[in-house]
Amino acid sequence: MKQTVDSIRTDLLAKKTSAEEIAHEALKYAEAENPKTNAYLTFSPERALAAAKAVDQKIAAGEDPGPLAGVPIAVKDVILTRGLRTTCGSRMLETYIPPYDATAVIRIEQAGGVIIGKTNCDEFAMGSSNENSAFGPVRNPVALDRVPGGSSGGSAAVVAQGTAVLSLGSDTGGSIRQPASFCGVTGVTPTYGRVSRYGLTAFASSLDHIGPFSRTVRDSARLLQVMAGRDEMDSTSAFAPVPDYVAALDGNIKGMKIGIPKEFFDGLASDTGGVIQAAIQTLQKLGCEIREIRLPHTAYAVGCYYIICTAEASSNLARYDGVRYTRRSESAGTLQEMYRKTRDEGFGAECKRRIMLGTYVLSSGYYDAYYLKAQKVRALVAQDYAQAFEQVDAIVGPVSPFPAFKLGEKVDDPTAMYLSDIYTVTGDLAGIPCMSVPAGNTPDGLPVGLQVLANHFNETAMFRVADAFEKISTT
Ligand code: GLN
Repeated sequence: MKQTVDSIRTDLLAKKTSAEEIAHEALKYAEAENPKTNAYLTFSPERALAAAKAVDQKIAAGEDPGPLAGVPIAVKDVILTRGLRTTCGSRMLETYIPPYDATAVIRIEQAGGVIIGKTNCDEFAMGSSNENSAFGPVRNPVALDRVPGGSSGGSAAVVAQGTAVLSLGSDTGGSIRQPASFCGVTGVTPTYGRVSRYGLTAFASSLDHIGPFSRTVRDSARLLQVMAGRDEMDSTSAFAPVPDYVAALDGNIKGMKIGIPKEFFDGLASDTGGVIQAAIQTLQKLGCEIREIRLPHTAYAVGCYYIICTAEASSNLARYDGVRYTRRSESAGTLQEMYRKTRDEGFGAECKRRIMLGTYVLSSGYYDAYYLKAQKVRALVAQDYAQAFEQVDAIVGPVSPFPAFKLGEKVDDPTAMYLSDIYTVTGDLAGIPCMSVPAGNTPDGLPVGLQVLANHFNETAMFRVADAFEKISTT
């Protein structure tokens, strides 16, 4: 499927096709392609066709069918969908059917979007390669022997494969941008609080975001537009008004000041570096003023992130106790044993590692040395960005130090896996909007994403840079 939100709308309003027909085709295609990538865990034909019919009825009645009318959308399996299995990529929730929808999902369906299925991901969104899913890894559609990135690997893969026009991911330390970069699609992490987290399974609550994947920048802007804005069900969702993101995409970024952080080029593989340097030259040709900037605390960000996220994860995952939700070990004699066995059987190795690390850094005697110190470092990382945005309108750099790696290449080395998040975790720690837009391929034909970051709630500047860049690089 090569359609966009706008092309589907035009076709529907011209009565060239119906939303039902599009949904039907999308489901058929997605089910046929899925064995190649394992990107979908569940399909939702009944829900999709009901939503599509509602769109067709509105069009027939001459009503506005909504900004996402008839668009096939896939949802990462950490985002709750009422009556539709939501596993979080975990054995713990293998048969879990949520009793309510996430706010993002409700807003998408109110806007005429058609949810066709749930996508595979690392267990509870912990990982950078999608190899931590209890339901098997996702393969990168661009190169099937490689990972799609993680943790939203399935959501990136379905857009790259063309089995969905849009998808939802979640990003805590890079889980939208890095898979977008690896699969050659666009992925957006909005400002923290811009999109309600109600119904997003909590991993690290102070860092978690929901955000879009798409093939074009404009489509991500359209999807964010629908999801953004205050939600009473999430006290951290922001009151700030939502601007018209699409109206600002005029392709003219002449005179914009773009910062290039020196620290984002330490440890960068040369094949990726070449693509990023060419992208910076393109921005210069578009009339941007390029300035070298410093983000001096970047080197401490991965350590800081893995202390904060594991601390929060150890607390958030405490609720999977065999009493609530679905899984319960049947072989236990006492209540204590039941808790222990349920958690032992239900969680995979990476979740257990994080629960142990998180419990350790929060324990008395270590709290000040690790957790409190990490919070201080987090403030310094945020300060780096605040100072940078006094000088520049946006920042660009790589998303990942290297392109998609081979399946199995890093599974035995958690530290190497964690270090691959070096350029993405800082944006989450600071809570600023950041995205990946396709920048070209390495000499081996692997996609490389350009990361664009902007100041809090300035998604408009971020989208404008990415859109102007996309327009020139695809023409
Ligand atoms: N790769 C990072 C981690 O494993 C980021 C995950 C995410 O953003 N959900 O924690």
